[in-house]
Amino acid sequence: MTYFRAVDPFPLESADHTKLHHFYARLAEGRLVTTRCASCGMRAWPPRGFCAECTSADFDWVDLPTEATVHAFTIQEMGLPSGFDSPRVFAIVKLEDLRIFTILTSTDPATVKIGQRVTLKPLRVTDDPKGTPRWLPAFEAAK
Ligand SMILES: [Zn+2]
Repeated sequence: MTYFRAVDPFPLESADHTKLHHFYARLAEGRLVTTRCASCGMRAWPPRGFCAECTSADFDWVDLPTEATVHAFTIQEMGLPSGFDSPRVFAIVKLEDLRIFTILTSTDPATVKIGQRVTLKPLRVTDDPKGTPRWLPAFEAAK
């Protein structure tokens, strides 16, 4: 995917920019992970650099399943930045007790249904300005 960098909507994912860089590194390997507070055990989504429950900054990385179900979705057909495929399916998927906002790729918008099974399929977006690959969590219809 290429697009005009001035409208770059994606986070800088490298260790230079975020202490949550392990999230993106594991996403590049096809794994979905999040943080769990080492102090009180609360699991967060999205991953957080500190605990919203007890404010501890100590956390562990825990794997999440890569299968989820569609909880809600919407389809954007117009107004997408140049270079983005249209229509784009945005969804909230249910993964255990978590609700994850994501994109559904390789999915026909006409056939998306609430409760549909989806599988993690990380989406590679444009490299950061230093040429480091970047990834976003995305899902596609389960096969
Ligand atoms: Zn905590």
